[in-house]
Amino acid sequence: MRCILVVLDGLGDRGYIRFQGRTPLEVAATPYLDRIASLGMNGLYHALEQGVPLPSEIAHFLMFGYELDGFPGRGILEAIGEGIEVEPGDVVFLARLLPVTMKGDLAILADGSSRIAQEAVEILAGSVKRFESEGLKGELIITRGLQGFFRVRGGASHAVTDSNPIQEGRPIMEISPLEKARHDPDALRTARFLNAYHRWAMKRLARHRVNRRLEREGCLPINAVALQRPGRLCRPRPFSKRWGLRGLSISSSSIFWGLGRMLGMDFVRVSDGPDPCQDLEDRISRAYYQAREYDFIHVHTKVIDAAAHTKMPVRKKDVIERVDKAFEGLVRHFMYDDEVLWVITSDHSTPSSGTMIHSGETVPITMLGRYVRRDRVNAFNEVDCAQGALGMIKGRELMQLVLNFLDRAKLKGLMDAPWDQPYTPGPYIPLKAG
Ligand SMILES: [Zn+2]
Repeated sequence: MRCILVVLDGLGDRGYIRFQGRTPLEVAATPYLDRIASLGMNGLYHALEQGVPLPSEIAHFLMFGYELDGFPGRGILEAIGEGIEVEPGDVVFLARLLPVTMKGDLAILADGSSRIAQEAVEILAGSVKRFESEGLKGELIITRGLQGFFRVRGGASHAVTDSNPIQEGRPIMEISPLEKARHDPDALRTARFLNAYHRWAMKRLARHRVNRRLEREGCLPINAVALQRPGRLCRPRPFSKRWGLRGLSISSSSIFWGLGRMLGMDFVRVSDGPDPCQDLEDRISRAYYQAREYDFIHVHTKVIDAAAHTKMPVRKKDVIERVDKAFEGLVRHFMYDDEVLWVITSDHSTPSSGTMIHSGETVPITMLGRYVRRDRVNAFNEVDCAQGALGMIKGRELMQLVLNFLDRAKLKGLMDAPWDQPYTPGPYIPLKAG
C-alpha cells in the first residue's frame, strides 16, 4: 500500500460575518471533497499546536514528522530548491529590496510598491551585491522581482533575528543575536556584520542614479535591503530512514524542492499554469499513475493560499470551488483502489480578511483507504470535520497514522533496530548463526 497526501495550502480560514460566521470553505460548493469526506474518516489537524500561525515550510517539516528544533531555516531551503550554490557553513537569508522613507534615522517600510523594470532591479542589486567586514563575506543574489537571497560565508551564525519588518509603516529592524546565542561570538559578529551591511546598502542605494530617476518620475525608490528567516545546511535523518517510506513530492514551489533535497525525498518540479484545477488534477493523476515505486507521495497546490492573501474571502471561496473539480478523477476512479491511502488536508490556515499573514486555527483532514473508520461527516470543512472519527490530530501524529493505515507501524517496545524507529521491519542485522 502507498499513501498520497494532497496538501491544499492555506485552506483553513475564519468565520466571516458576510458568510454568517462560516468560512470560505464552508460556503464553497465542493461536491467532490464532500464525497471523499463522506466515505472517509475526518478530523482537524494542526502541524504544531492550535493558535500558532505557521508558514508552509515549517508546517510541512512538522507534517513530515520532524521536530521543530531541527528546522534548517527557510532561507536555505529555498536557496537549495532554486539551485543557488551553497557550501556547508554558509548562512542564507531570504532577501528583499524594498522602498523605505527616512524618519529621523529610522528607515520606515514605505506604503506601496514601485513599478520598476527587472533590468533596473538588477542594476540596483548589483551596486550592493558584495560586502565584506568582520571576516565575513556577504553576497546578494536576486532571483525574481525584488526577491532573492543573501548568502554569508566565513563562519557566520544563523542564530540572529530578522531585519525585514514585513508590515508597512514599521522600521527596518536592527539584527541581534537570538537569546540562546547572546554570548556566542559568531552570532554577535554576524549581527554586527549584517547591521553594517544594511547601513552601507541604504547609503549606496539612496544616491544611486536609478533611484534618482525613479524619484524624478514620482515613483518610490528601492533604497533598502531587508533580510529574514536565515538557515544553513544540516542533516536531518532522511525521510526514508525516519519513516521507512520512499518519498516523492510533486509541487511548483522551490521550498518543497529544497525540503526534498534536505530530507532525501525525490521531487518533481511542476509549474503553475493558468488553470489551477487542471494543475492539481495533473499532479494527482501523476501521483496515482506514475509514482507506483513510492510509498508516500506529497502533492501540493498553493493557489488557495495565494487567493487568501488577496484578502478577499469571496475570491478564496471561488478558487476553492475550482480546485474541488481537480478531485473528480479521484472520486470517479482512484478511490476504488484499496492499495492507496488518500490523505487530504492543508498545512495551515490563511485568513482571507484582517492583517495576519497566516493564522493559528486548525485545518480539516480526511483519510480515505482500506482500513479507515467511516464516520458520519458529509462535508469537508473546518466545522463538519470536527465531528469526525479522527478527532484532533497534531504534528507527527499524521505520519504515524499514515504508517498505521499502511500496516507498517511498529508495535511499541519491539526493538529490531537501535533507535526505536516507528516502522517495521527496521534495518536489523541478521545474526550469523555459523
Ligand atoms: Zn501564505
